[in-house]
Amino acid sequence: MAIGFSERLKALPPYLFKELDRVRDEVRAKGVDVIDLGVGDPDCPTPGHIVEALARAARDQANHRYPVYSGMNSLREVIAGWYKRRHGVSLEPETEVCSLIGSKEGIANFPFAFVNPGDVVICPEPGYPVYGSGTLFAGGVAHYAPILEKNDYLPDLSAIPADILKKARIIWVNYPNNPTGAKADPSFYKDLLGFAAKWDLLVASDAAYSEVTHLSKPHPSILELDGAKERAVEFHSLSKTFNMTGWRLGWAVGNATAIKGLGLVKSNVDSGVFQAVQLAGIAALEGSLEPVAAMGALYLERRKALEEGLDKAGISYLGTDYTFYVWAKVPQGLGSAGFCSRLLEQTGVVATPGNGFGPSGEGYVRFALVQDVPRIREAASRIAGLKL
Ligand SMILES: *Cc1c(COP(=O)(O)O)cnc(C)c1O
Repeated sequence: MAIGFSERLKALPPYLFKELDRVRDEVRAKGVDVIDLGVGDPDCPTPGHIVEALARAARDQANHRYPVYSGMNSLREVIAGWYKRRHGVSLEPETEVCSLIGSKEGIANFPFAFVNPGDVVICPEPGYPVYGSGTLFAGGVAHYAPILEKNDYLPDLSAIPADILKKARIIWVNYPNNPTGAKADPSFYKDLLGFAAKWDLLVASDAAYSEVTHLSKPHPSILELDGAKERAVEFHSLSKTFNMTGWRLGWAVGNATAIKGLGLVKSNVDSGVFQAVQLAGIAALEGSLEPVAAMGALYLERRKALEEGLDKAGISYLGTDYTFYVWAKVPQGLGSAGFCSRLLEQTGVVATPGNGFGPSGEGYVRFALVQDVPRIREAASRIAGLKL
């Protein structure tokens, strides 16, 4: 008998970008100068003082042994200090903060702590795929709440059926949003917390992009709202803020029961983050935020450069102050995939089809601003001449 995958692995949705990857490689093989704005991974280096802190800590033998899965006390204190400074939120480092091996790890593991087989987890769509796959692995059922342009990319909570809500345990939200770049106002978080109290839900907020902005302050945290800690937990990461996607350091903060449950799962599956990386994380969070502000300004410059090309091609997009994504509307008559293929064939520019993030993303494409300004200008000028 041939080896077969488990049912839960077989239930994962198919990899929608496979065909696009194939076409990209084919176009590249023909000698076309491909400009890849597909993957959401920062292209700029981690700031030097963070790299230096890692190098120093890596040389110290005290950091070579198993770390504590929940994070060094010093790191958790620094994370609490960061929330105080950035959001005016007080957190108890011991009970309300847990370090993560990148926030993806925590997002994937979280349902194991709170979802029984058949329980529902409400996930945004289009959205980051890990909310759904983590749910599936834990034996839960994802209910996808569309986030639509006409609702400013916020979920319509009143449209979620009561029979679903009775079985629901967790609701995921993600602002600033990947893939759209949309934001959420505190008034939305207030409604969401009221809704969650009514249906007895845990609110899980993914704030990976809260610092990716050209504005002088971060996107609001759900924890800034009165009483939020009664049911909310926020996932955060150094990945996008400090160009540290490869380093794997993030955190969950908020409701103490949520943090305790996640910690119990983690103590059984991993052994925390390499202490040298934790110490580098402390250097990042305690150091100058000048590089973060500079990245925000750079992404704005790139955004403007790309938008100029989209304007000339008559393609509309969501204007936003957050993330490094541009969420653009596919011209009438073309689907997301068809548009991406035409874009690639005519211009060599790679974008991600919106429906890869969920069916409501059909009719949109996502550009990630992860090339330098001259390359984005080049992409924009090619797009300006696109024949649709
Ligand atoms: C990039 C990203 C993350 C997390 O990344 P980590 O590197 O695992 O911390 C989480 N959520 C969204 C929406 C992202 O785009």
